[in-house]
Amino acid sequence: MRGLATIRNPQPIIVSGGGIGGLACALALAQKGFGVTVCEQAPQFGQVGAGLQVAPNALSVLDALGVGAPIKQQAVLLEEMLMMDGTNGEAVLRIPCDARFRQRFGNPYAVAHRADVHGALLRACEAHDGVQLLTGTRITRYEQDAGGVLVSTDNGETLRAAALIGADGVRSRIRQQMLDDGDPVCAGAVIYRALVPAARMPPDLQHPRATLWVGPDAHLIYYPVRGWTEFNVGATVNREVAGIVEGEASREEAEIAFAEWTQVPQRVLSLSSKYQRYVIRHREPVGNWTEGKVTLLGDAAHPMVQYIAQGAAMALEDALCLAAELDAANGCHETAFARYQESRIVRSARVQISSAMLDRLYHARGVERLVRNSMLEGRSPDESHERLAWLFTPPPYVRDWAREPLSS
Ligand SMILES: Cc1cc2nc3c(=O)[nH]c(=O)nc-3n(C[C@H](O)[C@H](O)[C@H](O)COP(=O)(O)OP(=O)(O)OC[C@H]3O[C@@H](n4cnc5c(N)ncnc54)[C@H](O)[C@@H]3O)c2cc1C
Repeated sequence: MRGLATIRNPQPIIVSGGGIGGLACALALAQKGFGVTVCEQAPQFGQVGAGLQVAPNALSVLDALGVGAPIKQQAVLLEEMLMMDGTNGEAVLRIPCDARFRQRFGNPYAVAHRADVHGALLRACEAHDGVQLLTGTRITRYEQDAGGVLVSTDNGETLRAAALIGADGVRSRIRQQMLDDGDPVCAGAVIYRALVPAARMPPDLQHPRATLWVGPDAHLIYYPVRGWTEFNVGATVNREVAGIVEGEASREEAEIAFAEWTQVPQRVLSLSSKYQRYVIRHREPVGNWTEGKVTLLGDAAHPMVQYIAQGAAMALEDALCLAAELDAANGCHETAFARYQESRIVRSARVQISSAMLDRLYHARGVERLVRNSMLEGRSPDESHERLAWLFTPPPYVRDWAREPLSS
C-alpha cells in the first residue's frame, strides 16, 4: 500500500463512475502515484447479476493491476468456444482455448460473474491510500480553468479536481457536455439474461465452454460461472425496440424468437422462468473524446454492441493506457490525455466496428447462413487463433506495465 506522502498531485483526479472501467482507472492511476476520487451515482458500488467473458487481453490488464489471480480462481477457464447452427443443430466453428492458446496470448479465456471482477477491483481500490471512493455522488457538469477542473454534483457541491475522467457509461453526462452527440442509438435488439443454478442445467449441457447458438435474427450464449455453481444464459433477439421497457420478462417472451430452432437452445432457455430484458445501445466510433483536462473512458468513449464480448476489456485497456501516459507525461494532463486518445482510438473503434459486423454473421438466414457456415467450417485452430491475435494480444502498454518502475 502506498502512503499519502508519496501522492504526486495536490488536487485529486476525479473519475466519474465506479463501474469496471472507472475502478480500474482509479487503481491504475493510484499505482502510478496519483491521488484519485471516484464519484459513483449509485448508493453503493456494484454490478448487475450477469456473466462476463474475460478474454486474455482483459485478464492481462487484471494481472497487471494485481487482481488477476482471485478473479481467475472464481471464474471458469474455458477449454473452447463453440459456435452452433440453430437451424440444423450442427457445429460451425470450434476455437480451442488450450495450452497453445494460453501460451500465445499469455492468459486463458475466462468466464466470470461480473460482480467478481468488479469486486476484486473495488477491494484493491479500498486498500489503496491513493483512492477515495464516494457513493451517492452524481456528476452533472464540469468547467475548466487554469487551476484544473470544477466538477458539479447533483447534491449541489462543486469539487475541485486536477483533471476529470468520464467513466460514466453508455449514457455518459461528461460525453453529453463534451460532444453533444445525442443519446446512444438502439441497436434494434434486446437481450434476455438469466443466471441458472447449475443443479438445473442437464449434465449433457454442462461443458467447460462458451456455447454460442446462432440463427435467423437471434443468438443464444451460455457458459458456467462462479466455480460451476451457476450458468449465465443470454438470448439476443433482433426486434422492434420502440416502447420496450427494460426489466423483468417471462420465459415465454424470451423463447418466441427461438420457436423454430433446433432443440438444445430451447432446452437451455426453458431453464429459467424469468429473464431480465435489456435494450442494446451503441454508437458509431468518433475521432475525439478529449477536451483539455477532461477525457472519456470505457463505454462513455466507445460503447458497442456486446456481440464481440469486449466492452469491459476495452475499458480495462483504456485504464492502463491512460495511467501509463499520465506517468510518462509526469502528470501533464493535456499531453497525457491527447496521447491516450491517440493510442486507443483505432483499436477501440476497430472493436466497435467488428462487433457491429457480427450482427450479420450471427443472425444470417438463407444463403447468407450457408455462406457463413462454409466460411467457418473447417477453419483450423491455428487459423482461428491467428485471426483473433489482433484482439487477444495485449497492447504494449499492458505488456510493459509491470516492467515500468512505479513512479513515487
Ligand atoms: C448484455 C451485455 C453483455 C456484455 N458482455 C460482455 C462481455 O462478455 N465481456 C466484455 O468485456 N464486455 C461485455 N459487455 C460490455 C461491458 O459490460 C461494458 O463495456 C462495461 O461494463 C463498461 O464499463 P464502464 O465502466 O465503462 O461502464 P459501466 O459499467 O456502465 O459503469 C458506469 C458507472 O458510472 C456510473 N454513473 C453513470 N452516470 C454517472 C454520473 N453522472 N455520475 C457518477 N456516476 C455515474 C454508473 O452508475 C456506473 O456504475 C457486455 C455488455 C452488455 C450490455
